[in-house]
Amino acid sequence: MTEPLIYDISVPGRCGVSLPGVDVPETPLPTELLRKELDLPEVSEMQVIRHFVHLSQFNHSIDKGFYPLGSCTMKYNPKINEDMARLPGFAHLHPLQDDEGAQGALALMFQLQTWLAEIAGFKAVSLAPAAGAQGEFAGILMIRKYHLDRGDTQRTKILIPNSAHGTNPATVTMAGFTAVELPSDENGDVDLQALKAVCDDTVAGMMITVPNTLGLFESHILEVVKTVHDCGGLMYMDGANMNALMGVVKPGELGFDVMHYNLHKTFSTPHGGGGPGSGPVGVGEKLVPYLPGPVVVMVEDGTDDEPPLYGLHMPEKSIGRLKAFHGNFGMHVRAYTYIRINGDEGIKDITRYAVLNANYLRVKLQDTYHIPYNRYCGHEFVLEGHFGDAPDIHALDISKRLMDYGIHPPTNYFPLIVPEALMIEPTETEDKQTLDAFVDAMKKIAAEARENPDLLKSAPHTTPVSRVDEVRAAKQLVLCCRPIPEWAG
Ligand SMILES: *Cc1c(COP(=O)(O)O)cnc(C)c1O
Repeated sequence: MTEPLIYDISVPGRCGVSLPGVDVPETPLPTELLRKELDLPEVSEMQVIRHFVHLSQFNHSIDKGFYPLGSCTMKYNPKINEDMARLPGFAHLHPLQDDEGAQGALALMFQLQTWLAEIAGFKAVSLAPAAGAQGEFAGILMIRKYHLDRGDTQRTKILIPNSAHGTNPATVTMAGFTAVELPSDENGDVDLQALKAVCDDTVAGMMITVPNTLGLFESHILEVVKTVHDCGGLMYMDGANMNALMGVVKPGELGFDVMHYNLHKTFSTPHGGGGPGSGPVGVGEKLVPYLPGPVVVMVEDGTDDEPPLYGLHMPEKSIGRLKAFHGNFGMHVRAYTYIRINGDEGIKDITRYAVLNANYLRVKLQDTYHIPYNRYCGHEFVLEGHFGDAPDIHALDISKRLMDYGIHPPTNYFPLIVPEALMIEPTETEDKQTLDAFVDAMKKIAAEARENPDLLKSAPHTTPVSRVDEVRAAKQLVLCCRPIPEWAG
């Protein structure tokens, strides 16, 4: 049954709330403050609830079906995280509360810093950045300050492989450096010869994602790190893909000087509309004094009778603050909960299953789709969404058709070095039946592409909204569910 628009069922005088009786002298509402032109619907409680539940079901979500969107990892937001973040002691804490009155929150942040540092093999962590991209910005500013402090002022370049996420070159440019693009070799790794050719004393550092955006672990990572260090540059690791490494590989031990974590990718905090994000940075010895602040420190050790005393601290040569207060604290609570629930072995299992699931799908699909860099992958892999014998079909058509099978599309057209890229990331939370159902759907779609291409070109057919004209939608943005009223122009 299609739900009627909430405006169409409005009845004058109907009301969804019953307010308590007034216990103060009654005063009329100031009429000039009420916006008559809003024309709000008058509906009952049940009508309004049905309206919003109905709207929520228009969207695909992890609670409705499989969500193999690549490069984003976390679709799974454990409900217990929400319970913990809503504990009144956390949720109602004022950010200006003095340290003594916020010891529980500071202890949680200190513990999270410590765990994140341990997971990635770093000396120290700051939880301040509000997103992965802001963590990148913090990291590159730290590298900049490190060189400038030593009077090393001719370093103006940061090297970035051509498989990088767009935020990497954007970060580098915003921090005042020039981004130098490095080609990838035929295995999807950084081209070592090209790297060696550009490494000199004008290089401030290199930014690299491990495993890279093709889902591949750099085969020569130690040589890459050494080459850049030998010319005096520092190594930045984009940690968006830590789901493939946690508990198994520590970037700090590979020689990286700084890395950001995306708590909304690797540590189960909400991603996208459910945000906000959180992008802590971890650093090796050299960059500890430059961390963005504040960081939480242990001011006094605990004793048998007394817990330790924690306080906020601005590192001595800090690049400064990135946002108000202490980062997105609610996200720290959720990530802390996730790590604590999983523990040491659980964290390793997450990575093992994420990598196993991606490789399972890769091998199951390799005879049906072309996989350009087809080797053992991390938590995700990239295939080409087109077929030589069905030239009209593009990655977008395959993605739209997947929606008819109740599956969220993979990431489309990224990374840029694979034509018609479909980037698939199943994550550790999916079982074999779900993965097999995805493989079945992908195979059926490949057959449909040859037998009935129009079925793909006009997909999706079963969703509340069918294929939209994306160009027109962007140019004539209409956010109302009714014709735009005159007053809104
Ligand atoms: C998501 C992502 C980023 C940016 O992180 P945000 O938290 O979205 O700002 C950077 N690099 C890679 C490889 C990513 O996947």
